[in-house]
Amino acid sequence: MSMDITFLGTGSAYPSPCRGASALVLRTEGESWLFDCGEGTQTQLMRSCLKASKITKVFISHLHGDHLFGLPGLLCTISLNSNPQPDQPAPCVDIYGPRGLRRFLRVALELSSSQLLFPYVVHELEPADEQCPAEGRLNPALTASSDTLHPQERPGTSVRLDQHTDCYHLIDDKQFVVKAFKLYHRVPSFGFSVEEQERPGRLNTELLKELGLKPGPLYGRLKNGESVTLESGRVLSAGEVLEPPLKGRKVCVLGDCSAPLGEGFKRACQGADVLVHEATLEDGQQEKAVEHGHSTPSMAAAAALACGAQTLVLHHFSQRYKPQTLRRDGDDDVTQLKRQAELVLQGSGMEVILAEDFLTLPIAFKKNLTQ
Ligand SMILES: [Zn+2]
Ligand SMILES: [Zn+2]
Repeated sequence: MSMDITFLGTGSAYPSPCRGASALVLRTEGESWLFDCGEGTQTQLMRSCLKASKITKVFISHLHGDHLFGLPGLLCTISLNSNPQPDQPAPCVDIYGPRGLRRFLRVALELSSSQLLFPYVVHELEPADEQCPAEGRLNPALTASSDTLHPQERPGTSVRLDQHTDCYHLIDDKQFVVKAFKLYHRVPSFGFSVEEQERPGRLNTELLKELGLKPGPLYGRLKNGESVTLESGRVLSAGEVLEPPLKGRKVCVLGDCSAPLGEGFKRACQGADVLVHEATLEDGQQEKAVEHGHSTPSMAAAAALACGAQTLVLHHFSQRYKPQTLRRDGDDDVTQLKRQAELVLQGSGMEVILAEDFLTLPIAFKKNLTQ
């Protein structure tokens, strides 16, 4: 199964002609998952090779406008361009994000008399007080929503922190395990880890032939982990002929932060193939970055080292750092951010990539299949 990430917006604070506001799409075969949806995400999507209609899940890291203001508009445009079949109910779009997101979306859609041609559901993550300074905490009066749903809204869940793992468990299905974890920012912010389920290892066909078993349905049963009885009467368990399971790929996307909190980050992101981390300002501006709840390249590199990631992708750059291709004399140099992260990672073997709008990054299967 192919898997890739496309960056639709790599700028912080607001969309500019040089960098869109935060948004990226994780694509697997047949489905696209959107992470953050800053203003203008729908036009960025139209300029990309991706199809907005393929979006089945949306993850919002926090409620700052540069990560959220594009969502009501995007949902309306997907609806306008959809082509519902009378005999086929439209699939539901699952939306995950901090408490308050349900009300934001409901009010935006209701006040604008927006009807959607598909159902949606909002699953809210309950933040902890430690995720932001006191003035950034969500106001319960603002984030509470009534029991009256928008006509296309389906009842969502309220996801609490699992004290045992320090993570929020969002999805655990046949294909993926998705978790969220706490970050520190000016308002409660979250990171997400998406991990493919392990796949059964290869069948040792040579051994099977030695045992006199020819290719056929019994191979399928062994591959599924079942035991089979040979003609000799011997019971052959799958474990005897299956190689170790193949570890799935793991992609982690962190929202705005000046630090991850607790054990959840390391647990969820351990061994990530790709870690996407913000680097709003250069190392020399660390004090200012931290004051605003943001990170520098060195801070992002330290986080990537802590979880043993293979590749670190930096994004969410201050609009002062123009993409290298658009840089003019006197403009700040974005490539210094890459060098600053690389300095911290020297000798680790970790690759650093600077994200730019419309960059697509394929995520290959792990080289060491049994790792
Ligand atoms: Zn931001
Ligand atoms: Zn923010």
